[in-house]
Amino acid sequence: MHSSRVAREGYFADIYQMFKSILIGMRITLKYCFSPVVTIKYPFEKIAFAPRYRGIHEFEADKCIACDACAKACPVDCIYIDKSAPRKTDKKTGKATGGELLRYAIDYQKCMFCGLCTEPCPTDCIHMGKNHDLSSYTREDMIVEFHELGQKGLNTPVPLWAERNADRIPWVQAEKERIERGEVATTEADIPGL
Ligand code: SF4
Ligand code: SF4
Repeated sequence: MHSSRVAREGYFADIYQMFKSILIGMRITLKYCFSPVVTIKYPFEKIAFAPRYRGIHEFEADKCIACDACAKACPVDCIYIDKSAPRKTDKKTGKATGGELLRYAIDYQKCMFCGLCTEPCPTDCIHMGKNHDLSSYTREDMIVEFHELGQKGLNTPVPLWAERNADRIPWVQAEKERIERGEVATTEADIPGL
């Protein structure tokens, strides 16, 4: 008799606990139902970057004197530089002269976007940009050959998402055109709006 009463009480206690936990869960769910939306429909809506956001580099190949200061500052050794002979800055034009810049590449499999490479640059030609998307199909594509981009007049790669969405989203089209014009973007204001 005593044991059946204990079992009955346990049964109702379990039901009470179940309803209590459902109500607690529903209260949390309802709270978020009426909270402001924090996600956006990217890429249809443009991302707002934090003021000091560090994205894929913008590199001005014509100003680089291949001094290796950035590569030496890099904590993960992911900057590769080669030149045919010493380079120096022409004081009249502000451009690099002398030997040819044979290679300036960054391996984004290793880069951690710390920005340390930008600080010692004597010609201010390597910048942290505002592009965040470096999706690719191969590991090789994660190594960006910036000197080759420079030969095409680009400072940074055109992201895949820009290639794919430019014709249907105005701000992406404008951003793609900005990259293709070789304009450096180091602040959010440099990225074209909607
Ligand atoms: S951001 Fe940091 S990890 Fe990336 S290349 Fe520059 S120094 Fe190296
Ligand atoms: S520190 Fe500047 S000038 Fe020197 S190699 Fe790096 S990017 Fe070029």
